[in-house]
Amino acid sequence: MIAKRIFILTGAGVSAESGLSTFRDTGGIWSRYKLEEVASIQGYENNPAFVLEFYNMRRNTHAGVEPNEAHIALGQLQTIWAERGGAVTICTQNVDNLHERGGALSVIHMHGEIAKARCHDCGGLAPYDGDLSPNMGCGACGRTGGMRPHVVWFGETPLYMDEIYEALSSADLFVSIGTSGNVYPAAGFVSAARAAGIPTMEINLEPSGNAEAFDLARYGKASEQVPAWVAEMVAIAG
Ligand code: NAD
Ligand code: ZN
Repeated sequence: MIAKRIFILTGAGVSAESGLSTFRDTGGIWSRYKLEEVASIQGYENNPAFVLEFYNMRRNTHAGVEPNEAHIALGQLQTIWAERGGAVTICTQNVDNLHERGGALSVIHMHGEIAKARCHDCGGLAPYDGDLSPNMGCGACGRTGGMRPHVVWFGETPLYMDEIYEALSSADLFVSIGTSGNVYPAAGFVSAARAAGIPTMEINLEPSGNAEAFDLARYGKASEQVPAWVAEMVAIAG
């Protein structure tokens, strides 16, 4: 089997055609909101109600969208590879659950999940699809006022980094899909893969910020490019 262990990193571009805004593109979320106000711990401490409202709005938007052909194709690739004794790691920077809803068996959410709430005081984590408010109590420790979205903000450390580097270092193909290559540490995965001698490819609408770091590239819509690549991989694998 070629590329028995595939590591896939996804970003906002994989969910764009499902109707979720990307971050840095024109009209993206960050052209409309100040990053430091809604996606940093300082912003949250200064104005928790505003930050919770921003994520309530995003959570509601996420609930109304469906996975697209790219999510579905990646779910199929992961399933087929597992059946044939290989492994596909899907590591996403996205806080939506469209990979899971598109059929992925397991997903590493390095920037958290918007459909979960976390207690700022005790770290208690629970699925939560309603609106968060500053006067909510924590089901675990009972304290009030610390319930926040389970989303990694700027200045905070991404999640599952040990697991990620382990999967990355044992992969024999690294594929980056729909990410601008601007936010570290995810933007550094391609260099880590290259340093380990692993072939790298990006699939993106246009060359990303670190396009020159990839061995191969396919440019176009994720909903078209990803299913085409997956079909080729499955055909080659036989
Ligand atoms: P991004 O918006 O920076 O980049 C999206 C990329 O997708 C772009 O390169 C764009 O060309 C491409 N793209 C757009 N539509 C596409 C399509 N249909 N098909 C294929 N590609 C398409 O998003 P990113 O790279 O995911 O950003 C990095 C991460 O930074 C985000 O995922 C997010 O987790 C994080 N971030 C988080 C916050 C927060 O709320 N905590 C704030 C800002 C950024
Ligand atoms: Zn708590």
